[in-house]
Amino acid sequence: MPLSGCYYIGTESLSCGQKFSAVNPKTGEFLETEFSEGTDKHAQLAASLAAEAFIDFSQTSAVQRAQFLVLIAEEIFNLGDELLLRAGLETALPRARLENERARTCDQLKLFAEILNEGSWVNAIIDTADSSRKPVAKPDTRSMHSALGPVVVFGASNFPLAFSVAGGDTVSALAAGCPVIVKGHPAHPGTSELVASAIIKALKKTTLPSGAFALIQGSRHLIGESLVKHPDIKAVGFTGSLKAGRALYDLAKSRVEPIPFYGEFGSINPIFALPDGIGTNADKFATDYIASLTLGVGQFCTNPGLLVIQQSKQSEQLLKHLLHKLKKMPSGTMLSINIQTHLNDEVKFLNKQNGVKLLTESVKNTSFAGTNNKIYTVAAQDFVKNAQLQEELFGPVSLIVICSNRLEMMQVATALNGQLTVTIHTMLEDLHYVQQLTNKLSQRAGRVLFNGYPTGVEVCRSMVHGGIYPATTDSRTTSVGSEAIYRFTRQICFQDVPQKILPCALKNNNPLKICRMIDGQFITN
Ligand code: NAP
Repeated sequence: MPLSGCYYIGTESLSCGQKFSAVNPKTGEFLETEFSEGTDKHAQLAASLAAEAFIDFSQTSAVQRAQFLVLIAEEIFNLGDELLLRAGLETALPRARLENERARTCDQLKLFAEILNEGSWVNAIIDTADSSRKPVAKPDTRSMHSALGPVVVFGASNFPLAFSVAGGDTVSALAAGCPVIVKGHPAHPGTSELVASAIIKALKKTTLPSGAFALIQGSRHLIGESLVKHPDIKAVGFTGSLKAGRALYDLAKSRVEPIPFYGEFGSINPIFALPDGIGTNADKFATDYIASLTLGVGQFCTNPGLLVIQQSKQSEQLLKHLLHKLKKMPSGTMLSINIQTHLNDEVKFLNKQNGVKLLTESVKNTSFAGTNNKIYTVAAQDFVKNAQLQEELFGPVSLIVICSNRLEMMQVATALNGQLTVTIHTMLEDLHYVQQLTNKLSQRAGRVLFNGYPTGVEVCRSMVHGGIYPATTDSRTTSVGSEAIYRFTRQICFQDVPQKILPCALKNNNPLKICRMIDGQFITN
C-alpha cells in the first residue's frame, strides 16, 4: 500500500499544506512520499482527543489492553517486507538488524501483554479495617497503581522500530492505560507511518476508544514543544540527545502543572578492563570490543565509547590488536546527515583536547552520510581533568584511557558522570579491589556487567535501561523491560470505599486471582 504522508489522530488520517521528505542516508536523495508537517492545531486536537479517551481507556480491563498489544504485534508483523524495505531506505540499517529489531518490538508488546494478563503489576495492597483499635479505629485502606494520563512519546532515530512509534515508551504507556501521542522522528517518517497504520488497524479491531493513539509527524521543534506544554498531557517519554531532551525537560518542568519527563540520553558506557580480564585473550577481547563499538555504526545508546585499561603486558597486546583490527574493519553509513555532522564536530573537538591521540582508524565509507571508525587514547591524568572528554560520541568512535596503576583506575571511576551501563573485565584475581571498583561503579550506572559488552539490552522483567543524569532524567526508572510501566502510573489509595465501587483488584472477592498484599501477607486467591 502506498504511504499517505498523513498523520493519524483519532483513527482518522489528516494532512495539511506544508510538507517534508525523508532522505536516503546512502545517496542523499529524497525518498518517495511527502509528509504533512504537523501544526500546533494538530497537537491541540490530538491532546484533547487523548484526554477524552483517557476516561474510558484507563478503566478498560488489563486483559482488553493485553489483547490490543498482541493485535499490534500481529499487525506490525503483517506489514512484512514493506516495513523492512522502507526502514532500510530511511536509516541505512541492514535488513538483518531490522528483522531483529522488529522481532524485539513484537516480543516487547507480548511481554507487556503477559504482565497485564497476569495482573500483579497493579501492586494491590489491602489493609483491612479494625473498628476495635484504640484509641482510634483503623480505617479500611487499599492502594494500587493506576494510569497517569495522556503521554507524549518522542520516537528515537537510532531504533526506528524498538524505540519509536510502537517502542518501549509507547507500549509501557498503553499497557498502563494511558493514551499515547507519538511525535515521529523526522528522519524516518515512512517507517513511523507504517507502524502507526498497524496500531490503528489493531485499535479498530477492538472496542477501545479511538483517541488512545495518535501519530504526529514533523521536522520542526514546534510540534514537540506544543505537545509537552499542553495541559492535557501528563507525562513524556523521550530518547535522543541531551541537548534536545534537556530543552523539552525544562519545558515540562516549567509548566503550571509540572509533569514527569522520562528522558534517556545515552552515555559512554565505560568498560574497565583489568590486566587479568584481558589475560591471554587480547586478540579476542579486541575483536569483541570492536564488534560492540561498531554495532549499528556505533549508534547505540549502550555503545562502549570509553575503555579504561591499566598499563601492563596485557594492555600493550590489546592496543596492538585494536590498532590492526580496526584498520581492517569496514566503515558504515550513519542514520542521517545530521548525525554524521554532529559526530564530525565532536571528533574535531576531541582532536584538539590535551593529551588525546588517534590510535587507529578505518577507511571512510564514501556514501552520503558515510563515516569511519576511530579509536583514540588519553592518559588517565588528562582524562580526569577534562570533563568534556566524557561527552557522548554518537558513532563508532572510542576513547581509551590509559592508567599507570590501580589507583588511577579508581580515580577515573570516581570522576565518571552518570551512565546507562558500566562493565568490568576481570578474573577476580584481587577480589577486594574488584569489589571496591564494583561498589564505586554501581553508584554511577543503571546496569553493571561483568566480562561482557553492553550493547545488547535484554527485554525482560529484571532489565534496567536507565541510570544517573546525564544518562537519564530519572535514575529510579527504566525504559526497557516490564518495570517501565511504572513511569506511567501513579498510586492511588481508596479509604473506606464501598466494595461495589472499588476497582476489581481491590475487591474482597478478587476475581483476578492475582497476588496481593493483604494485612501484611502476600496472598494469591
Ligand atoms: P535529537 O536531536 O535529540 O531529536 C530527538 C527528537 O527531539 C526529534 O523528534 C526532534 O524532532 C526533537 N527535538 C530536537 N530538538 C528539539 C527541541 N529543542 N525542542 C523540541 N523538540 C526537539 O536526536 P536525533 O535527531 O536522533 O540525533 C541527534 C543527536 O542525538 C545524535 O547525534 C546523538 O548525539 C544523539 N542521540 C543519542 C541517542 C542515544 O540513545 N544516546 C539516540 C539518538 C540520538 P524535531 O527536530 O522535529 O523537533
